[in-house]
Amino acid sequence: MEPAIFSERADQIHRVGEQPFRMACNRESLAGAVSQRACVFCGSRVVLYPIADALHLVHGPIGCAAYTWDIRGALSSGPELHRLSFSTDLQETDVIFGGEKKLYRALVELIDRHHPEAAFVYSTCIVGIIGDDLEGICKKVSREKGLPVIPVQSEGFKGNKRAGYHAACQAIFRLVGTGSTEGISPHSLNILGDFNLAGEIWIIRDYFKRMGLEVVANITGDGRVGDLQRAHGAALNVVQCSGATMDLAKMMQQKYGIPFIRVSYFGVEDMAESLYNVARFFKEPGIMTRTREVVREELISLYPQLQKYRKALSGKKAAIYVGGAFKAFSLVKAFRLLGMQVVLVGSQTGTEEDYRELEEITDDGTIIVDDSNPLELTSFLKEKKVDIFVGGVKERPIAYKLGVGFCDHNHERKEPLEGFIGMLYFAREVYNTVMSPVWRFLPRRSASH
Ligand code: SF4
Repeated sequence: MEPAIFSERADQIHRVGEQPFRMACNRESLAGAVSQRACVFCGSRVVLYPIADALHLVHGPIGCAAYTWDIRGALSSGPELHRLSFSTDLQETDVIFGGEKKLYRALVELIDRHHPEAAFVYSTCIVGIIGDDLEGICKKVSREKGLPVIPVQSEGFKGNKRAGYHAACQAIFRLVGTGSTEGISPHSLNILGDFNLAGEIWIIRDYFKRMGLEVVANITGDGRVGDLQRAHGAALNVVQCSGATMDLAKMMQQKYGIPFIRVSYFGVEDMAESLYNVARFFKEPGIMTRTREVVREELISLYPQLQKYRKALSGKKAAIYVGGAFKAFSLVKAFRLLGMQVVLVGSQTGTEEDYRELEEITDDGTIIVDDSNPLELTSFLKEKKVDIFVGGVKERPIAYKLGVGFCDHNHERKEPLEGFIGMLYFAREVYNTVMSPVWRFLPRRSASH
C-alpha cells in the first residue's frame, strides 16, 4: 500500500539501502500532523517528577496536570510525595488579573501541609502567555519557608519535548552543589536518566554495588533532594536516556569537572557493555574482576531461559517508535537476540547522528522515521505486516486498532525491562503478545503466523 506521508515530512523518513542517508530532524512538528510528541512541560515533568521527596506544583490550568504518577509509574523506596499531582488550576479571572497570588498561596499551603525537601513549580503555556513572575514568587517562598523552591521554565509552546528536558536539567542544576560531599568514595557515580519504572533502578544499583561502587544520587528515578545536592561529589556521571539528562551531565562536567559516559541498561549486549565501560573508567583491577563476575552470573541463568522464546519468535517482524533514539538502538539489538527482524524504527527526539547510527545497525528496507504521527505509523505497520509494535501510551491504540501485538516500553509499564533479568521479562512479554491466539480472530493476518 501507499504510505500516507505529508510531502513536508518526506525528508524525515529514510528507507535503509534504498537511498543515500539523509534525515531532517530536531525541527518543529508539522502543524496539523498530530505528532506523537508531548509538550515542553511534559518533557520537564517526565524528568523531574520521580524526585520523590519534592513537591511538584503545576502552575496552569487543570488539564496540564493530567500527566500524573498514574501514567508515569516511577517507584520510590521511601517518600511518595511525587505521586500527588498539584495544580494551581488557573481560571479565566487568573488569566485576566494574573496567577501570582494564587501560586503564592498554593505553595505556602502545600509546603506547610507536606513539608517537602524542595518544591518544583512548572510553568505551562498559559503562564508563559500571561507572564507571571515565577522566579520572583519562588524566591519569596524559598526565603520565607527556608527550602529550595525552583521554577521550571517549561511553557508548553516553547519548543518540542527536548526543550522540556533542558528546562528540567537547569532546575536540577540549581540543587546540585548545595550539599556536603564529605565521605563520598572515590569509586562513586551518579545514575542519570533512569526513572525507576517498575523498580528498574534498584536492579542497576545492585549491579554497581556488586562491582564495589557507591551510587551518590539517582537522577531522577527514586531521587532525593539531599542526594542531588551532593551529586557533584561523585567521580562519574553514568547517563542513560539520550535526550533527558545529557544536558545536566554536560553542565556538571563544565562546572565540577565530572566526566560522563553514555550507557544503556536494556538488552544483554548493551547492559554488559555499560557495566564494563563503567568498570574501565575506574581503572581498578578489582572492579573489573567483580564486573566480569556479575555479568557471568547473570548470563548463566539468563541464556538457557531465552532459548525457548528465540525459537518461537525467529523470523517475526517488529516495529519500534520511542521517545529517545538511544533506547531504539538497544531495542534493535534485543530483537536481533530473539531472532526477530526490525522493519520500522523511529523516535520523537532523535538527532541526525542517532539516525545515522540506526541506519548502520538496521537491515536494508527498514524504515527510519523522525517525529512521526499516527497516520504514517499506521501505514508503515500495514505495509511491513509487523507482528509487534513497541512504543508508549500514544502508540498502543494504533497497534490494537490494527490487530498488531503491542509492547509498552514507556513510563506506564509495570514490569522492569532493564538489566539482564529485564531482557527475560521483555522476551516473555514479546512472546506472549506475538504468539497470542487472539490475533486469529482479528482482521490483520500476518504472513508469518
Ligand atoms: S503546557 Fe501547554 S501544551 Fe502542555 S499540556 Fe499544558 S496547555 Fe497543553
